[in-house]
Amino acid sequence: MNEELFGRIAALCAYAAENSPFYSRTLCSIRDRSDFYSLPYLTADDIRRHVNPDGTGDLLTGPVCGSVVLGSSGISGPQKIVYREFAEQHRVSEGLAMAMRLAGFTKEDRVANLFPPGGPAWIGAHEAIELLGATLLPHGTTMTGDVAEQVRLLQWLLPTAIVGWPSMLVRLIAGGLPPVRAVLCGGEALHPEMRAFMEKSLGAKISLAYGNTECGMLGVQCEVLRGTGRYHILSRDVFLEIIDPGTGMPADEGEILVTHLHRRLQPLIRYRLGDRGRRVDSGCLCGLALPVLELEGRSEELQVRVGGVQLVADKVAAAVRAVPRVGERFQIRVRATDRGEEVRILFEGEGASRDSLYRALVEGEPSLRALGDQGALVVEVVSRGAIPTKAWKTPRIVDERSP
Ligand SMILES: [Zn+2]
Repeated sequence: MNEELFGRIAALCAYAAENSPFYSRTLCSIRDRSDFYSLPYLTADDIRRHVNPDGTGDLLTGPVCGSVVLGSSGISGPQKIVYREFAEQHRVSEGLAMAMRLAGFTKEDRVANLFPPGGPAWIGAHEAIELLGATLLPHGTTMTGDVAEQVRLLQWLLPTAIVGWPSMLVRLIAGGLPPVRAVLCGGEALHPEMRAFMEKSLGAKISLAYGNTECGMLGVQCEVLRGTGRYHILSRDVFLEIIDPGTGMPADEGEILVTHLHRRLQPLIRYRLGDRGRRVDSGCLCGLALPVLELEGRSEELQVRVGGVQLVADKVAAAVRAVPRVGERFQIRVRATDRGEEVRILFEGEGASRDSLYRALVEGEPSLRALGDQGALVVEVVSRGAIPTKAWKTPRIVDERSP
């Protein structure tokens, strides 16, 4: 952290402590860097408990007029409410417009905003397309909407570029979404099998934007980083720390904390958003002077501990890669039964053999063999679109055990 950045962060902390009753209790005055690094983390639960309508509202620094109220998707726990002033919202849209430019979008494009209408991603993309000067097709899509109807409209409007959630685009592709020139996805992880399927169907490389409702835009992908799990961090907007979750000490690899440099109405100071990442010091060949982060994903989305075994979603994907007729989507569901914990893995794949899937899993992955030996592994093959979604997304792991 250089002198200028430290000055900005110290001023932000002073503002938050002076104007937010919540932060006045948790922040001390910041005289040097070690003061900052010893501040407590802000958690998702703090946001739920201290932002109205569900919480007390004392995390906010002032009246909410002139702001936009957003709800998180609820994929990683109960929903959180986020207030952004319009100027703050505008910066999020600028970050998204940058992600679109890097993804190859130009002002000649007809860009379909396929995020769910009215949600945080849709609102950001709407303004970003305006900033790009492109042609906006603002129709949006929902997981519960009529796919045939949505695809018919898109076949008629002929977008050349699209933005949306991967699981939603997969659904539209299955319904006959025509190929496009450029694609930007955000909002959920993009697994290798899903990426390969989408790129083949759409005839375009897929870039990702990294962000969430609380923080807005955090990272973008240039042409060099496209297809990797790496992002350029928008360091003009956010200061990212990586800590060892066990010790809380700075680390090269671990949990990500976000301090948002421009969020004043609902400040985010050392926000523990639940994602894991690794700092990449080698920079990027594209020449963009923004630091590079390798995102390892949302902790709770990628692995789960069950029956004394650590189950990693990517290892499940790797174990079934060679099984014929298995689709690109699957879901691991964990629940407690009267016989103990049970892992049920649902695969989309018309005509795929349940027995060959089961065999591939227990032979290819030791953690699954251990679960199989305990009689705790159930494999099911379901038809396309039958995997349950949550807030329109398709989480890879759903933990149904009571907390
Ligand atoms: Zn780059």
